[in-house]
Amino acid sequence: MNIVLATSEVAPFAKTGGLADVCGSLPIALKQRGLDICVIMPAFRQIHSSGMPLRDLNIEFDVPISGKVVSGKLLESRLPGSDVPIYFIAQDDYFSRPELYVESGVDYQDNCERFSFFSRAVLEAIRLLDLPVDLIHCNDWPTGLIPAYLDIEYAKTPGYEQIASLYTIHNLAYQGVFWHWDMLLTGLDWRHFNWRQMEHHGQLNFMKTGIVFADSISTVSRRYAEEIQTSEYGCGLEETLRYRGDVVSGIMNGVDYRVWNPATDDLLQRQYDAETFVEGKAACKRALQQELGLADEPNTPLLGFVGRLAEQKGIELIVETMRNWLPGHDTQWAILGTGEQRYHEALAELGRQFPQHCGVRLEFSNKLAHQIEAGVDVFLMPSQYEPSGLNQLYSLKYGATPVVRKTGGLADTITDAGPETLAAGTANGYVFEPFDPGAFAWTLGRALDCYRHRTDEWRAIIENGMRQDWSWSASAEKYEQLYELTLHRHRSADASARS
Ligand code: ADP
Repeated sequence: MNIVLATSEVAPFAKTGGLADVCGSLPIALKQRGLDICVIMPAFRQIHSSGMPLRDLNIEFDVPISGKVVSGKLLESRLPGSDVPIYFIAQDDYFSRPELYVESGVDYQDNCERFSFFSRAVLEAIRLLDLPVDLIHCNDWPTGLIPAYLDIEYAKTPGYEQIASLYTIHNLAYQGVFWHWDMLLTGLDWRHFNWRQMEHHGQLNFMKTGIVFADSISTVSRRYAEEIQTSEYGCGLEETLRYRGDVVSGIMNGVDYRVWNPATDDLLQRQYDAETFVEGKAACKRALQQELGLADEPNTPLLGFVGRLAEQKGIELIVETMRNWLPGHDTQWAILGTGEQRYHEALAELGRQFPQHCGVRLEFSNKLAHQIEAGVDVFLMPSQYEPSGLNQLYSLKYGATPVVRKTGGLADTITDAGPETLAAGTANGYVFEPFDPGAFAWTLGRALDCYRHRTDEWRAIIENGMRQDWSWSASAEKYEQLYELTLHRHRSADASARS
């Protein structure tokens, strides 16, 4: 099977979140299963500082964008440690910018134009590179137009007739919404600007377009696949998703243990595994305390968070609990993230007030992200919603007991430590449900009670987590099955259209 994976982010080339981790590691796992797969992404400025070798293929092409012709060219590299090709769509006016989508909190005004260009360029690249393709795997709104172009413009183009599309939703909240006149930039006929296809409440919506036109839709956990069909989590697209409910499924993201494994992680002061974590984590905790300027207190529980400082991540629950608990001086906190200004201010203030107990770094640092996973006792993910979540899986491997809200991929992967799950050996963290600071603090209190008073139980929870296997192998198998199902679906839809 020949697959093209189209995406706007791939680690280590350009990353703002989990999408990049998935698109950097899933193709390698699929290649290992025998699939022929390549990746196509925009040549953002960041790819040049990734340290990966890039080759100019000297292939240039033109794409029509609203009455003008925009030229692009192709670059090539490989996903690290593999022979999976990755092609970059270079167009410096669109992609050589300081950030990927948003600068200083404001979306780039021409995002519709940039990603219309990218989507058309992906389809051009297939022809120019002479790629055999059975299916294009699209990811999130930046690629939402590809299934529409395939269906509307390419369905009868030789070489493209048989190409099926899978659209994976990594985060439904980011939809690529533009004013209606941007429809001109897509080059698609106005007749598709209707409530059943590309229009949503008077605006052009790339996410909806992908959902409507793709042969299959997937999300990144089973629970999120169900949640997004409800008004609570559907971000206004629940009806569209319910309408397409028979082709919606969920596959949990996997972890690339070549990158996220404390036994081999050279970003850590001390490496450790499920046999040696007690000494290993103690050394990493001491190093993290030093790094963040915290007091050297080996027995004080150290609680950590790494991620986007966005409402989605439940930052307000964390901040409120910090405000209540930090004056007691019996907890320490390690926070790494960037995002909304209000959270930057609140967290920076706590860092200033309690320098011995609260280390805050408002930046993007891969190294510190690894060191926090290794150094903290508890990892916090009180998310409002969490399509899949990777950090809780990293935490399991690094022996940082996750405290999570019961939603999306967190609900699918973390089992609350109670008498039964402890006896069964399945407990790997702590789970709360209502999105409120009281419920969060209460559950965190349960975790700390165990940490302080029941060391054997605490270690058993860590061991359970460290021994679990969340590698890509199981999920890659499910993607392969979904690709096959999607091809079948596409071909039967074609056949019924012909009959
Ligand atoms: P999301 O995709 O919603 O941002 P995930 O938990 O799925 O959340 O993935 C987040 C990824 O981004 C993880 O690999 C995490 O370590 C990384 N990350 C997020 N913010 C930062 C940061 N400030 N510094 C380093 N890594 C970060």
